[in-house]
Amino acid sequence: MSYASLLKVVLNSEERKATKMTIQRRVFLAVGTVAAIATVGGLGNYLAVQAQANRTINLYSARHYDSDTAIYAGFTQKTGIRVNLIEAPADKLIERIKSEGANTPADVLMTVDAGNLWRAQEAGLLQPVSSRTLQAAIPANLRDPKGHWFGFSKRARVIVYNKDRVKPAQLSTYEDLANPKWKGRIISRTSNHVYNQSLTGSLLAAHGGAKTETWAKGLVANFARPPQGNDTAQIRDVAAGIADLTFVNTYYVPRLIKSNKPEDKAVAAKIGVFFPNQKDRGTHINISGGGVVKNAKNREAAVQFLEYLTTPEVQAMLARGNNEYPVRAGVAIDPVLASFGKFKEDKLNATVFGRNNAEALKVMDRAGWK
Ligand code: FE
Repeated sequence: MSYASLLKVVLNSEERKATKMTIQRRVFLAVGTVAAIATVGGLGNYLAVQAQANRTINLYSARHYDSDTAIYAGFTQKTGIRVNLIEAPADKLIERIKSEGANTPADVLMTVDAGNLWRAQEAGLLQPVSSRTLQAAIPANLRDPKGHWFGFSKRARVIVYNKDRVKPAQLSTYEDLANPKWKGRIISRTSNHVYNQSLTGSLLAAHGGAKTETWAKGLVANFARPPQGNDTAQIRDVAAGIADLTFVNTYYVPRLIKSNKPEDKAVAAKIGVFFPNQKDRGTHINISGGGVVKNAKNREAAVQFLEYLTTPEVQAMLARGNNEYPVRAGVAIDPVLASFGKFKEDKLNATVFGRNNAEALKVMDRAGWK
């Protein structure tokens, strides 16, 4: 193809794409494109670049772990498909995909907590995916039954206690945290945070609205201070003796244990991890996960990417990168995480506490959980 006929193609395609553009601007674009082709060394290169550009997925991710970069690079190496990463908190990404509408460049949305994935699904931002690979690798309770989203790693919401003040034998269930024996001894992050909404959503599934509200009221009555700070802040303050116990996601604890900072090591030495509800339904499990965006332009590549995340090597990397548990059976876990011991997991489908999110918020609000 000569540059002249290429120019014609470019002009035609520009015409199709942008009928409202002025002729002047179209010509400018066409000339610019041809100039770019000339600089990179001709048509062959142009087509090669175009082909490569077509093999890119846009990943909107609320995960922010350095280790994930190696995972994306591994995908490109394996498939030739590049991963263009857009990072932001989940609510920002969800809003962005909403406002971009049909023109969104997003192919995959990754976030933490089934509550966030549920919100994205509810807003109609995800499309169903049917993949034997995904279904075989991911347990049914850790994915949407219709394939709108899939869990790729999991975390447990555990009790962290001050070893000087609490003996593990005194601990039992989330429900027991509403017992007046814990008055003034518990701290928590706010009810605004999706982790506590999902936990409350799991109690709603187990007990219904009235009992869960009574529980939340009892829990709030036991708070040593108004809710504030993130999960790590709760752990630090329990170690400092501001309260006797809190509840946090598992991965925050190995972060402190592995830290080289003396102040973190001191915190780690003070605290113990307890898995609640081992004699009944098991400890609340949540996921980090993702799905294919409804208006994805690269659907096939997006599915390929999700499937890649379930391979044993990537499962190990994903989980270790943030001290999480892999979703795939038989994948080794981080030794510090493993040192907390084996435990019974609540097998409640993540969809259920996702769906319960709105009611959980109301229950927490009525209970005065700030
Ligand atoms: Fe977190």
